Amino acid sequence: MRVVRTRAALRAALADAARPIGLVPTMGWLHEGHLSLIERARLDDASVVVSIFVNPRQFGETTDFTRYPRNEARDLEICATAGVDLVFAPSVEEVYPVGFDTTVSVGGIARPLEGAARPGHFEGVATVVAILFSLVGAERAYFGTKDAQQVRVIRRMALDLALPTEVVPCPTIREADGLAMSSRNARLSPAARAAAPVIRRALLEAHRLWEEGERSGAQLRAAMRTTLASEPLARVEYVSVADDATLAELEVVDRPALLSLAVRFDEVRLIDNEPLP
Ligand code: AMP
Repeated sequence: MRVVRTRAALRAALADAARPIGLVPTMGWLHEGHLSLIERARLDDASVVVSIFVNPRQFGETTDFTRYPRNEARDLEICATAGVDLVFAPSVEEVYPVGFDTTVSVGGIARPLEGAARPGHFEGVATVVAILFSLVGAERAYFGTKDAQQVRVIRRMALDLALPTEVVPCPTIREADGLAMSSRNARLSPAARAAAPVIRRALLEAHRLWEEGERSGAQLRAAMRTTLASEPLARVEYVSVADDATLAELEVVDRPALLSLAVRFDEVRLIDNEPLP
């Protein structure tokens, strides 16, 4: 496995890479969720490229950026064991050199939910992913549907900018108690870690009500809030029942929909979602 840190070294390393190339963009602190994307790429592609870059432009709160967990040595070991061919682990200055002055801004699909809760977040995501797509020129790139809106935003961007990389969504990998794997879970206190599976229970409760015939968006949102309220450590940021394609809130669930939520435990912000049906 090769590790490169500059745009030039990345391009040189890719010149003789076997094709097709699969790209897995990450912010490091790798877990089984990331591994599932790498494994999928290994099945589909002849070369697997993983990027490890904690992207300052997608963090609103600087504390969230500085406290984001990092352990590159461990991440590189995980990548080597998983059969990754090439790791791109650039510095902030390498991704955003002096004079960098471009922002990729996706429209409507980036506005609700995470876009509303984290102003500028999706501009940061779209900008760095556009750079990665351009540098790597992969046939495919793999993203987790845990970040359901992110997948939609990147799809839109790739389509609109005619980037030739296919965006492949992959299922959410969970802990045994249902908590979606996330690098941020490492920052949960023991009490918050014990409480956090309430996120999954809230989504499953709303899903169950929907299966029993409940079609009121308000009722399904209320059911998620009621379940979340059973854990005093959980501070709800939003609960949503939205059109699966546009992510606009639904009064009546009369089409494919997405249940989603963002909850804080102490200063750790967690998100998850569940599709309907
Ligand atoms: P991150 O390092 O958190 O930016 O995540 C990098 C990629 O891994 C993104 O496409 C995420 O959606 C994906 N990912 C994160 N957590 C999971 C998970 N639990 N299951 C599947 N994919 C995930």
